[in-house]
Amino acid sequence: MHHVQADLLERLAHAVGIAIGSPEDEAAEMARHLVGANLAGHDSHGIGMIPDYVRLAKAGLLVPGRSLETLVDMGALLVFEAGRGCGQWMARRAMERGIGRAREMGCCTVALRNAAHVGRIGHYAEICAEAGMASVHFVNVADHDPLQAPFGCSDARLGTNPFAAALPGKRKPSVVLDMATSAIAFGKARVARNKGVPVPEGSLIDGEGMPTTDPTTYVDSRKGALRSFGLHKGSGLAVMCELMGAALTGGQTIQPAHPRHDGILNSMLSIIIDVEAIGDRDTLADEIDAVAGYIRRSPPAPGFERILMPGEPENLSRAQRRKEGIPLDTKSLSDILAAAIEAGVPDDCVTEIRKALT
Ligand code: NAD
Repeated sequence: MHHVQADLLERLAHAVGIAIGSPEDEAAEMARHLVGANLAGHDSHGIGMIPDYVRLAKAGLLVPGRSLETLVDMGALLVFEAGRGCGQWMARRAMERGIGRAREMGCCTVALRNAAHVGRIGHYAEICAEAGMASVHFVNVADHDPLQAPFGCSDARLGTNPFAAALPGKRKPSVVLDMATSAIAFGKARVARNKGVPVPEGSLIDGEGMPTTDPTTYVDSRKGALRSFGLHKGSGLAVMCELMGAALTGGQTIQPAHPRHDGILNSMLSIIIDVEAIGDRDTLADEIDAVAGYIRRSPPAPGFERILMPGEPENLSRAQRRKEGIPLDTKSLSDILAAAIEAGVPDDCVTEIRKALT
């Protein structure tokens, strides 16, 4: 296992962005986002995505340099078409427009259609929270074969359809729930496969629909499926992410009448509410602290050391990884460097990374 400093990885991701054809600001946003996901502890959505992004850009399934197109502007409703544009850039632009509108109107619903992979959804909830907004985000994943077996299914019918919600608190970052609706995100199965470790019990079924903890066959040949989290309730939320995130917004759903190109398309419905339009931010922050404190004072159940709020594991990870560097297994790292070279990243940048590892 290597430990690599975040700024070095960000430079590499930025160079890949430029090499695939992104303008400077888009490449910088993508790089910050990917490394930010690693810092938050979500390696599944960090720079390990680079080989996919290079493949997608080459195939025309991720279109660098795309502008966000406004399809509907009705004040408190904005609808955007991303046209496979760089997901991180498209989603940030959509959030900025939505936040500005929520500040004027109290709230704004933002529908973002057909962005290339937008990454870690909590990032958009955090952007809203930093601007004093509460927000909820329903997201679908389409354009590739399904990965998630909903409750009662023996094979995959949905993507890993993430959901996120956040509130601004006194401290930064605030309370942030951000999760795949599959028991684990696909990238976590990929990371487990690369590390040679099992996935948690109950998170995976094999090609016959039987429970397994070995991610190898699933990651390598996609035989089997990730299970929905939380039985019928988590499965229901996954269905609502598909319908709210894509059917309602006009984005591409995963149902088979839509052609699949082995790409990654995210469509997202975001509801953004200006906290100051409902009440005041300090009172909300006090109430959040009081509720969190009440929950934390419960004696930890057997097997638990302490009680955490949603978003805290990411804060703890950020503090640790800023100090110690980002852990990367050898296979992931060599895949990333190979993709960077394939994309046309200059040799000196790749050499700099290799040197830092020796
Ligand atoms: P996870 O299971 O690690 O965490 C889910 C949530 O639970 C987080 O809000 C976290 O703060 C909270 N949490 C974790 N451990 C906790 C504990 N012990 N106590 C209290 N709260 C705790 O996340 P995940 O489901 O593996 O998702 C990983 C990432 O993948 C997310 O950022 C998600 O947005 C992203 N994702 C993106 C896509 C996409 O297509 N763009 C698809 C799926 C997932």
